[in-house]
Amino acid sequence: MYDLVIDGRRVTTETRFPVLNPATGAVVAEAPNATEADLDRAVEVAQAAFRDLSARPEEERRGLCEAMAAKLEAHAEELAQLLTREQGKPLNGLGSRWELGAAVVWARHTCTLSLPVKTIQNDNRGTVELHRKPLGVVGSITPWNFPILIAVWHVVPAVLTGNTVVIKPSPYTPLTTLRFVELMNEVLPAGVLNSLAGDDRAVNLGALMSAHPGIRKIVFTGSSATGQKVAASAAATMKRLTLEMGGNDAGIVLPDADPRTIAEGVFWGAFINNGQTCAAIKRLYVHEDVYDEVCDELVKYARTVSVGDGTEEGTALGPMQNRMQFDKVSRLVADAKTRGRVLIGGEPGEGLFFPPTIIADLEDGVALVDEEQFGPALPIIRYRDIDDAIARANDSPWGLGGSIWSKDIQKARGLALRLETGSAWVNKHVAIQPDAPFGGVKGSGLGTEFGEEGLQEYTDIQVLSY
Ligand code: NAD
Repeated sequence: MYDLVIDGRRVTTETRFPVLNPATGAVVAEAPNATEADLDRAVEVAQAAFRDLSARPEEERRGLCEAMAAKLEAHAEELAQLLTREQGKPLNGLGSRWELGAAVVWARHTCTLSLPVKTIQNDNRGTVELHRKPLGVVGSITPWNFPILIAVWHVVPAVLTGNTVVIKPSPYTPLTTLRFVELMNEVLPAGVLNSLAGDDRAVNLGALMSAHPGIRKIVFTGSSATGQKVAASAAATMKRLTLEMGGNDAGIVLPDADPRTIAEGVFWGAFINNGQTCAAIKRLYVHEDVYDEVCDELVKYARTVSVGDGTEEGTALGPMQNRMQFDKVSRLVADAKTRGRVLIGGEPGEGLFFPPTIIADLEDGVALVDEEQFGPALPIIRYRDIDDAIARANDSPWGLGGSIWSKDIQKARGLALRLETGSAWVNKHVAIQPDAPFGGVKGSGLGTEFGEEGLQEYTDIQVLSY
């Protein structure tokens, strides 16, 4: 039975909603459907817990975060099994076990961070110090693609810096987060971490959280359209915001790249989590000199990838997560098929299964190239002139990530620096790590996560002068 946890106690709701296994369509479990009153209560107890937590020394809070990491690690397999059933991703490969492993790594790394007082001046004129102070109640709103990893990205830095949290997962994948919060409450003081969940029908909890006067910050990961709504409704209460939104990352293959060497990296850069990844390669620009070979090698690699129910140990890619996204990808692929050449895939499968699809000979202006597909369909665009390719990569409202693929690392490095993106990679993509800040520029977001820069976002500055 999955319930909310508010003030360290399980809270049952009057109504519940079904969470479906995307591989089978069967109901995994019923999730609680929280009301506005549940939200108000969660904020109230989180405010009370904040008074205690924020007054504790950083070392004590670090101890709590270490205990969270240990608890997460101890329950990693249980959570991975549940994640596969509600999210659809495979247990193995870059699936649920990987996600749980990464969540533990991120939690542990965050535990090593600190924001000590910085002395700006200390001389005969006086002393000026910069202090980092926690904000209060943080509202965490998460998406359905990496529910547990993203929850950890939001919760651990918030608690380490002395904030308390109300977390609300996506209606598609609430169960792993509800169980995570339950487990974390075994090691946290009551009220520090509270969960809500809802089906976004009668009540839109995310919208209410964004406008709630008792919440001091929203950390949001999700689509650009929703992120913009969060920013608009947060304005009235001047909430701090970290917004990790969508992207349309370009990968650019230079003429000197070895198609066979790069095929695996490019494939997983695009198809990780079935393409349902914010910073995945969503359009691939390939120089005409290596175009045919790159297409061939990608198809060859794609043929080796097994698609199936994620609970089967040999599966590399599961179903798509939900019908809404499946329909969107189906529509984009149907349109792109009339404009380009299908190299592999292209036909929606049974249920929510969509085979890895690669469509070549496309141009900018086709929806599959211009929009965020967020699914297993990669458009390939031929180019002749590298300056033109960089310009096309940058001609986008988004700016999350981008990559250059080449044997000449220095040349690729110079080109990567010309990408208007928060992350730029050479010969890899979506290669994130807990000590390197990650965030989007332009329409892809506001602020950054991970590392010291990410931690700072859970604080306000106070300058003390005496
Ligand atoms: P979504 O925007 O539909 O939902 C995200 C969350 O917002 C859910 O919890 C949802 O319930 C909530 N929500 C819905 N309406 C809201 C409102 N009016 N105000 C506040 N919250 C509201 O996104 P999704 O479909 O779950 O996720 C896919 C998107 O997330 C993609 O665009 C992807 O690129 C993006 N994403 C970005 C990152 C990143 O780090 N940049 C990571 C993962 C996913």
